[in-house]
Amino acid sequence: MDTKIRLTNSKNIITKSDLPVCDYSANPYVGCAHGCMYCYASFMKRFTGHDDQWGSFVDVKTWPAIKDAARYDGKEIFLSSVTDPYQPAEGIYKRTRTLLEQLKGSGARLSISTKSDLVLRDLDLIKTFPGARVAWSVNTLDETFRADMDRASSIAARLNAMRIFHEEGVHTTCFISPIFPGITDVTAIIERVNGIADLVWLEDLNLRGSYRATVMDYISNRHPGLVPLYQEIYNKKDRTYWKELDATVATYAGNEGLEYVRASDSPTPPAKPPRLVNFFCHSQVKKSARMAENKTK
Ligand code: SF4
Repeated sequence: MDTKIRLTNSKNIITKSDLPVCDYSANPYVGCAHGCMYCYASFMKRFTGHDDQWGSFVDVKTWPAIKDAARYDGKEIFLSSVTDPYQPAEGIYKRTRTLLEQLKGSGARLSISTKSDLVLRDLDLIKTFPGARVAWSVNTLDETFRADMDRASSIAARLNAMRIFHEEGVHTTCFISPIFPGITDVTAIIERVNGIADLVWLEDLNLRGSYRATVMDYISNRHPGLVPLYQEIYNKKDRTYWKELDATVATYAGNEGLEYVRASDSPTPPAKPPRLVNFFCHSQVKKSARMAENKTK
């Protein structure tokens, strides 16, 4: 799919955030060419005057130089809440890199989330931020399913980037999200990232957004045997599947000697990495999620 690129000016690149695990967020782009089928950020179309299909447009932001970057000392800045800071446009426009260069030496606590291995380009720069954390979303080890879901880097490329960052001493997170019932093999992913992810987060597929119909159509067409399960979960609001998955992961973690924490409980410091955090029903656990993240630092 061709991406419509537009260059825009933005007054502020860093904004206060009410997300549970950061103080500020920064989105160097509007839109995201990764075009994930389940992207919750697609609501941004409404706010930015785009009629085009989500994934088909990207606004590239330019902003004034950040004055007094030291005011972010000790503050957590998350890249990014409604775009991927390392989507393909970043390879050309380097807006994320520009932002990191402006924040270098500020003492900001950097947290990056991506589905790309382009972040490897900035490894040396990211390492200058004390306690920087980089997360990759991996909700399958099956490249065919991955290609059905997004136009981001392959799973192999994401895991390779995760390994290199880990070897370089940067805190790495594997974000198993969104977990597709009956498709995402959670324990296989945990096993695969053992030794390269400092933290594993689990998050269930949420179908409240405008993409609900798209995902349900996809399941009907490509995984018809799962339709009854999806109807139970998303039409009848039955949470049995998530409770059983929670129990399966808890048993697995117990057998493997991994600490497993439900973000909705009071978390305790990890006994040994990787630590698993169950972030199911995340809207209910904002406070404790913040605690869980803080305890990993
Ligand atoms: S990578 Fe993130 S922001 Fe981009 S389309 Fe996918 S879910 Fe949305």
